[in-house]
Amino acid sequence: MRRAEQSLLNSSTADNPSDVVLLAPFTGPVVPLADVPDPVFAEGMFGDGIGIDPLDHVLVSPCDGTVTHLARTHHAVTLRTAQGAEILVHIGIDTVELGGKGFTPKVEQGASVRAGQPLIEFDADFVAQHAPSLVSVIAIANGDAFDVIQRASRGVVKAGERMLVLRAKEGAAAQAALSSSNVVNEARRSVTLAHAGGLHARPAARAREAARGIDAKVEVRYQGRKAAVESVVGLLGLGAGEGATIELVGMGAQAQEAVDAVATELLRAAQGEVEETPAREKSPAPLAARASAQPLPPNMLAGVCAAPGIAVGKLVRWDDQEIVPEEKASGPSAAESRALDRAIAQVDTELEDTVRTASQRGAVGEAGIFAVHRVLLEDPTLVDAARDLISLGKSAGFAWRESIRAQIALLNNVNDALLAERAADLRDIEKRVLRALGLTNTAARALPDEAVLAATEFTPSDLSSIDRTRVTALVMSRGGATSHAAIIARQMGIPALVAIGDALHAIPEDTQVVVDASAGRFEHAPTALDVERARHERERLASVREANRKMSQEAASTRDGRHIEIAANIATLDDAKAAVDNGADAVGLLRTELLFIHRQAAPTVAEHASSYQDIVDALAGRSAIIRTLDVGADKEVDYLTLPPEENPALGLRGIRLAQVRPDLLDDQLRGLLAVTPAGAVRILLPMVTDAGELQRLRARIDELAREAGRTDAIEVGVMIEVPSAAMLADQLAKYADFFSIGTNDLTQYTLAMDRCQPDLAAQSDGLHPAVLRLIKAAVQGAEKHGKWVGVCGALGGDPLAVPLLVGLGVTELSVDPSAVPGIKARVRNLDYQLCRQRAQDVLALESAQAVRAASREIWPQD
Ligand code: PEP
Ligand code: MG
Repeated sequence: MRRAEQSLLNSSTADNPSDVVLLAPFTGPVVPLADVPDPVFAEGMFGDGIGIDPLDHVLVSPCDGTVTHLARTHHAVTLRTAQGAEILVHIGIDTVELGGKGFTPKVEQGASVRAGQPLIEFDADFVAQHAPSLVSVIAIANGDAFDVIQRASRGVVKAGERMLVLRAKEGAAAQAALSSSNVVNEARRSVTLAHAGGLHARPAARAREAARGIDAKVEVRYQGRKAAVESVVGLLGLGAGEGATIELVGMGAQAQEAVDAVATELLRAAQGEVEETPAREKSPAPLAARASAQPLPPNMLAGVCAAPGIAVGKLVRWDDQEIVPEEKASGPSAAESRALDRAIAQVDTELEDTVRTASQRGAVGEAGIFAVHRVLLEDPTLVDAARDLISLGKSAGFAWRESIRAQIALLNNVNDALLAERAADLRDIEKRVLRALGLTNTAARALPDEAVLAATEFTPSDLSSIDRTRVTALVMSRGGATSHAAIIARQMGIPALVAIGDALHAIPEDTQVVVDASAGRFEHAPTALDVERARHERERLASVREANRKMSQEAASTRDGRHIEIAANIATLDDAKAAVDNGADAVGLLRTELLFIHRQAAPTVAEHASSYQDIVDALAGRSAIIRTLDVGADKEVDYLTLPPEENPALGLRGIRLAQVRPDLLDDQLRGLLAVTPAGAVRILLPMVTDAGELQRLRARIDELAREAGRTDAIEVGVMIEVPSAAMLADQLAKYADFFSIGTNDLTQYTLAMDRCQPDLAAQSDGLHPAVLRLIKAAVQGAEKHGKWVGVCGALGGDPLAVPLLVGLGVTELSVDPSAVPGIKARVRNLDYQLCRQRAQDVLALESAQAVRAASREIWPQD
């Protein structure tokens, strides 16, 4: 017995209203915890508590509370009291082995119960004969929040007599007080899911977040099924698609508030979300679409390019490399349970890290996907099911795998393609946790040299564990160019083909293959000549890359002497270093919203200033065009919840944000104006539509500059990314120092094609003649006032677009850092006069395909 603790028999302590009093669940002699004949309990692994050797055959509730867990085998029950204490009552030792025989539950999981109410009836004779002992235990599962302050001493207690008194530890007490004043009430609300995809992972995760911290439980009901809002997999399993009307039922003191918060989030999602695939990834210009439907030779399959390049190698079937854990636990259930907790915690830390680095890189889509993985990882449905299996004597790995598989089967039953895709996310966390449990498939590591890995679809953790030096290409029968694996493959520089189809599975292991990802071709059993050609092409591309790299620090001019500045698009300090390494002449676009994307509070003036200063310092004398915050539509930041909009892409985005939050822009401008040396920074304004808007912003910048004591001129540029800006370029150029054309948005708004809509990716092409004509208008408008024009959208890094942009009069191209050497080389091979003539001709063409074909013809690539 601990020092501050008293025996109940000689207790004179008055009850503190927030203390938790636990009554004996049966009549019988008290057994001190240390004497319970099972080390798992005796050593306190399930928490502090007390034993009792029951003389009767009904377990009655030791307190008022909710049944939070009823073991599938009905030998144990966990209750949660209003003060938040988690009380486990476990009948007998090793009774899980009885598989439920001899136990009859009298309540269901989730029920509210009163002290003294029968919870489980049991056949005491049967249990005594078939289990090592009938000694039972009451344990405090969350002993970190509660101390035992009184405890019954040896002797016999009667069912319903006081056995233990608990007191909330500091901090938990406030929570206890709060809960004890709760009035249980109920609120209901129906919501029709208007957003594409319905209740999918991202809206489900957000709904869960919305309810977090509000004192009420929310249940979502749909077509006779129900799921707790905390369980994202449970919510997915409801199969509530677009147009479904779900019912939200809240219970607890703040039921209405919780229900409203969830409803608001779901309605907001309808206005801001598409679906949870990483379509928002700022990927480059659309990668080659599926190769044209010409008949293919029998040993050739077509796919979609997810990461460009060409490779030769041996096919290795990655799908077969499953991790199959031992079914039976090798140690006690408590140890397995702890191992699972540790593994989940480890994976959570890994994922947190991945989310952070992905956000820093500006890979918003990737960060979002891994954030959803974190939510799945702690999903109570998954974790509880695994714990149940562990309590049945299964190993942690087996239990986790089974629990995930059960959910996957459920999602597959819902018969929804998007949900089936979420199964890939579940498989991913399955593998991660198994690996964290120390389970591997040794076969998975023994790759041959030049392995071409084949799978239905790779999960991100597959890719993080492969031996990079041996893998030469990735091929998938399913998947898409915006899938997670595709994004990672691009980053790793491994050629990857997706959506090849099931024919891929018919190709035997070890077959020699050629993967021409750029051309969307997969060739199996190639001729010796094909292999030689592919190897030759691969080497040629590698040596071209090397030669370009050697020249990358030199400025780039066309053969006839027109200088084109090749700058870099960056989002972080690391990118700034990469820009310098790759030979960028300057930074043509710093997307500042990405620097602060996952923060909970808006950056201060000092934070703005120091982030930009670090970047400017890293650029070692090169200048930086820094764009003011461009949030809204496809770029969300955690610290700013914009009012829901019908059409976010046409709403408060870019510079329009200043209409509702001028303080944010002012803070950023003050930070920008503090960077030294003066002149190192040019300010760029996104989404400007006309000259009036620009004049107002310019006046504000001048005012803040005066306040900051700046006397030098500050260059202010305008993004041309809205058709009106291109058409009014001559007016804007009066007040702007330069233009930077954002072809990503200019294409979206000119063609009325959402830049995040994967189905439109191939059509939404910046080489469309309509977009090119607007670029021409922008350059002509700028030239009237002697201003220069750059391009910072993805078109600037597209080799087929470069001659046309140069020909239309663009003098700066800002591209991904890694593309700088190649684009410089491209410029050096051009003749400006030829570009000028041909660019005018191309404007008369009728489609983007025709423009691409013409460019390919006139300016073949290396
Ligand atoms: C663009 O729209 O082309 C652009 C460069 O801006 P962002 O991609 O950040 O919207
Ligand atoms: Mg833009």
